[in-house]
Amino acid sequence: AYRRGVATAAPGSRMPPYTKILGGLEDVRRILSPQRALTLAEKILYSHLDNAEESLLSNTNNGRDIRGQANLKLKPDRVAMQDASAQMALLQFMSCGLPSTAVPASIHCDHMIVGERGADTDLPASIQGNKEVFDFLESAAKRYGIEFWPPGAGIIHQNVLENYSAPGLMMLGTDSHTPNAGGLGAIAIGVGGADAVDALVDAPWELKAPKILGVRLEGRLNGWASPKDIILHLAGKLTVRGGTGFVIEYHGPGVDTLSCTGMATICNMGAEVGATTSLFPFSPNHVPYLEATNRAAVAAAASEIAAAGPQSLLKADTQAEYDQVITIDLSSLEPHINGPFTPDLSVPLSAFADKVKAEKWPETFGAGLIGSCTNSSYEDMTRAEHLVKQASEAGLKPKADFFVTPGSEQIRATLERDQTLSTFSSAGGTVLANACGPCIGQWKRTDGVKNGEANAILTSYNRNFPGRNDGNRQTMNFLAAPEIVTAMSYSGSTTFNPMTDSLPTPDGGSFRFQPPQGYSLPSAGFEEGNPDFQPSAAVPDPTVEVVVSPTSDRLAILEPFAPFPSQDLTGLKVLYKVKGQCTTDTISAAGPWLKYKGHLPNISANTLIGAVNAATDETNVAYDEAGKKHSIPELAEQWKSQGTEWLVVAEDNYGEGSAREHAALQPRYLGGRIIVAKSFARIHETNLKKQGVVPLTFADRADYDRIDACDQVDAVGLHDLLKSGGAGEVALKVTKYKTGESFTIPVKHTLSKDQCGFIIAGSALNLLAKRGQ
Ligand code: SF4
Repeated sequence: AYRRGVATAAPGSRMPPYTKILGGLEDVRRILSPQRALTLAEKILYSHLDNAEESLLSNTNNGRDIRGQANLKLKPDRVAMQDASAQMALLQFMSCGLPSTAVPASIHCDHMIVGERGADTDLPASIQGNKEVFDFLESAAKRYGIEFWPPGAGIIHQNVLENYSAPGLMMLGTDSHTPNAGGLGAIAIGVGGADAVDALVDAPWELKAPKILGVRLEGRLNGWASPKDIILHLAGKLTVRGGTGFVIEYHGPGVDTLSCTGMATICNMGAEVGATTSLFPFSPNHVPYLEATNRAAVAAAASEIAAAGPQSLLKADTQAEYDQVITIDLSSLEPHINGPFTPDLSVPLSAFADKVKAEKWPETFGAGLIGSCTNSSYEDMTRAEHLVKQASEAGLKPKADFFVTPGSEQIRATLERDQTLSTFSSAGGTVLANACGPCIGQWKRTDGVKNGEANAILTSYNRNFPGRNDGNRQTMNFLAAPEIVTAMSYSGSTTFNPMTDSLPTPDGGSFRFQPPQGYSLPSAGFEEGNPDFQPSAAVPDPTVEVVVSPTSDRLAILEPFAPFPSQDLTGLKVLYKVKGQCTTDTISAAGPWLKYKGHLPNISANTLIGAVNAATDETNVAYDEAGKKHSIPELAEQWKSQGTEWLVVAEDNYGEGSAREHAALQPRYLGGRIIVAKSFARIHETNLKKQGVVPLTFADRADYDRIDACDQVDAVGLHDLLKSGGAGEVALKVTKYKTGESFTIPVKHTLSKDQCGFIIAGSALNLLAKRGQ
């Protein structure tokens, strides 16, 4: 049913390695029996397994219960990194000592660019302010053969869609909206930097086999409804946790009615419901998009594979079963507005005015912002342009400030050529740089709204947590399609329904918008735009020196962690006993600390500063044996300088929240060797092991109460257990620092053989570096 021998990827090519992927699928069919029906997500994921037999048959009732059970060891085809998270990913990669990345990779400078007055002034100012980091990223990219997209080139997910995503591809991205690439039929998963390094060094990347949530689309969108409304509606149904542990797989007759970029918008916001990723099957609409973005060969190869029908790599098998199915009728779907403060508070447009009044939300809004990685396609922008032209002809100007963020230089230059941008500017809109800007808190507002002042804005972005856009936690960000944001900006009122309400015109008349119309692709093709914004070549150059100043306060080369000693860990001291919730944000706070993401010693000064002291209920207050008060990082630093290693005692779900590897790196850097908790969040537990920290759980949860800050701890049996690859018992011998009393408490571990190897080597990177030598 499949053909081997359709295109093979050459270095620097945008062609997925189809020969390899199809071969992988053949292996999966053989292992699971050819009759076993697979969803699309299963086909793409499982065909990227490093050792399909081991992953699919162990711990899965011989292949019958893979989803939610199997530990998939995957070999992705590609990695993309954004500028903020790429720093630590590259520093870790560099410490492996390899000459180039094992898979194609790209870096995108987008998060550190401010949106204020417009691209012409904002971009140079941001480049100046972050020059050191951009220079580092560019030099590392050139040395290791990574394509480097400079500041101004665009937002990671738009660049990926235009250049790298392809049906059947599997990629990792160091950003939570990486699933945007699923609009073009790829499995694209957002991860932390340490996970990206696995792929960059050719080590298998582990993922618990996700369950599959099928979303069946029927009918066809019409009038004002757009693809954004599909995901706004779905977010309301699923809530922000409803997709956790699932891949969302779209199917049904409605799929082929959507544009490629519309499908990307839907997948992008799957991150808002916690899904591992989202994806669409191969669609006829993928072909013109791939061709228009200079990938006719990819379009031809994918079409050839898909021609085999439902049995092919690029579609779900006819009999495939989903763990859950939600059906959406596109024909009756109306526009939605979601928010404030959470993306799952979803209200149909027709009910929004009443909701605003009932909730006493502001009835005016100060700014309408369209674009970003979520909604800056040619279709989005030309539909918004159609509305602006209608209003301009009626003599109207937007009442709210109106901002446009193009997702890439390609889309910006094309919209400039086709005079869409001049239509926005003539109407009073401001075109910002091709970057994240206001979507990630890099928005310097000039409209006089003060920090702490309650106010509303409308955006076509994807997230609306407090403080996300302008740093003001009282700014209520309502999410909607760009068409709705644009039309409502002309009234400046949150109770205005552009589908049914009219606006007064300057000549005393009345104006009502006609439903927006646009073009999914530019008839004259895409423009490349400014040649300075093209990526560097994907050819490693060992003569390039990676620029990290020894005096920098933003970047520091990583020193390898010391290997595990040749006997048990003894004489550890309890640095802190944490009470209650302890998220990755508690362990490594974000906000102003983000600028130190590439400087482990500096960012370590925020270690555990959100943690509550179980003895005193104080936050970030630790006491030494003499009863002297310290901040947690201060005491850790002091003990590190004295050569005292330590452990942390914690409660349930330690490290929940995100894949932030700093939350594991920082304790390790400061001398942390063990975290003993009632339970761990799975991703963080893995991250700790990768950095050489041993996560242990209490065999008897009540033992949490028997151990206190400053107690001395020996890990009995740990050395033998690590050496044996995870076999044997480990216990903690606790000596109370106040009384000298000693007792032993049994603890449990989840260390696999590979992970024991990481810890013995000092970290996973040390092991990889050793193997690379
Ligand atoms: Fe993330 Fe916003 Fe940038 Fe998209 S535009 S990558 S959501 S910060």
